[in-house]
Amino acid sequence: MGEFELIQRYFAAAPCAQGGDGVVGGIGDDCALLALPPGEQLAVSTDTLVAGVHFPSVCDPFLLGQRALAVAASDLAAMGAMPMAFTLALTLDQADAAWLEAFASGLQHMAAACALALVGGDTTRGPLSLTLTVFGRVPVAQALTRAGARVGDLLCVGGALGDAAGALPLVLGQREAAAEIAAPLLARYWSPMPQLALGQALRGQATAALDISDGLLADCGHIAKASHVALQVEAQRIPQSAALRALAGQEGALSCALSGGDDYRLLFTLPPERLSGIQADWPDVRVIGQVVAGHGVHLLDAAGQAIDVPQRGYQHF
Ligand code: ADP
Ligand code: MG
Repeated sequence: MGEFELIQRYFAAAPCAQGGDGVVGGIGDDCALLALPPGEQLAVSTDTLVAGVHFPSVCDPFLLGQRALAVAASDLAAMGAMPMAFTLALTLDQADAAWLEAFASGLQHMAAACALALVGGDTTRGPLSLTLTVFGRVPVAQALTRAGARVGDLLCVGGALGDAAGALPLVLGQREAAAEIAAPLLARYWSPMPQLALGQALRGQATAALDISDGLLADCGHIAKASHVALQVEAQRIPQSAALRALAGQEGALSCALSGGDDYRLLFTLPPERLSGIQADWPDVRVIGQVVAGHGVHLLDAAGQAIDVPQRGYQHF
């Protein structure tokens, strides 16, 4: 199978590559062409996943395709952007038909769930890695950034944290667990659903937002720094799933929720009077702390006393 046949069979022919909202030209020319309605801005984000670093070298290609796009689309959710399109730069050590078939179908599955059209990419030979670039649109000056948090705002998350980090030993085959515990955690690792609708609902409501990829405390640090404020996180208010607690115990679950990455839940700051409106539509949204004057991130126990924890998330260098 040659390069062009591969692109045609697995990607250009996929349902998600047959145009979409704002797609004027897709796969097949030198560039894709995207049209933006007047009064909107383009939101762009790239993520690379490298075998052995971001996912196990031997893994289910359907799940990999799904996860790669979910991780990329989560950045659109974090900005409050409406999804439009994505490109896929794929480096493969071999063109294995069964692998490509399953990978493309996982990608298709997530593309349909996120309303993202595949509009281009690149295909090369080498150690397995994937680079996905996502494009979204957002009304001028309404994108959610990390920089607007204000003293007095509530600190909120879009749902339970730590499941993907808890699943990692299961993903790596270092641990086993009963199906009713393993299944929900593995699902959170392999197919985190980007919180696109929540992100869009937070436009004009949240003062700052991001998606948690490095770990809660590290990502809180990003908002604190960009907004020139301090964030207080109350440990006992951090939502955790029953499956995570069953697998990791109370302390292990808290540690996954605080420092494990890969949650892809939204973290945002919200003026208190807007909370009930958001929670009416998004019952999984939880307050986990508040914005105060100062700098840095402060973890508090149930008595309001500071707990000392390393606040570094995963860093490649
Ligand atoms: P060029 O040589 O102009 O860079 P290529 O020969 O690499 O173009 O690709 C041909 C067309 O196929 C382009 O439209 C490109 O965007 C698309 N393409 C290449 N690889 C992929 C892929 N893995 N997924 C989707 N589209 C791809
Ligand atoms: Mg070209």
